[in-house]
Amino acid sequence: MATWRCVKNCGACCQLDPADRPDLDQYLSPAELEQYLTLVGADGWCIHFDQVTRECRIYADRPRFCRVEPDVFHDLYGIEPDELNDFAIDCCHEQIESIYGYRSLELVRFNREVGL
Ligand code: SF4
Ligand code: SF4
Repeated sequence: MATWRCVKNCGACCQLDPADRPDLDQYLSPAELEQYLTLVGADGWCIHFDQVTRECRIYADRPRFCRVEPDVFHDLYGIEPDELNDFAIDCCHEQIESIYGYRSLELVRFNREVGL
């Protein structure tokens, strides 16, 4: 069975351009949406995303909506804990494909590391 994990050298979900996420206000509270918008840099990447290392500079203190955790995904998307694995894999897939392309090394690496 494929098991979700965040793979190194990706960061696709740190591209936050609101134009690509028109339904943000459907799952973020007004306060979270405000916080989200403060993170968006001029190029759409999160201001805390290091584009060289492809790592989060504030990982330990990243916002709640950045965390792939059962209670967060339940609150934001109504996902039950036993659905989290498949849902997270689908989310990463969609995001990686949209940022890096469906033939990208990032997607190949993700598929291999989660066991797809
Ligand atoms: S898209 Fe998925 S694998 Fe890539 S950085 Fe985000 S959580 Fe990790
Ligand atoms: S705070 Fe960190 S994990 Fe969240 S979008 Fe920004 S760089 Fe990514």
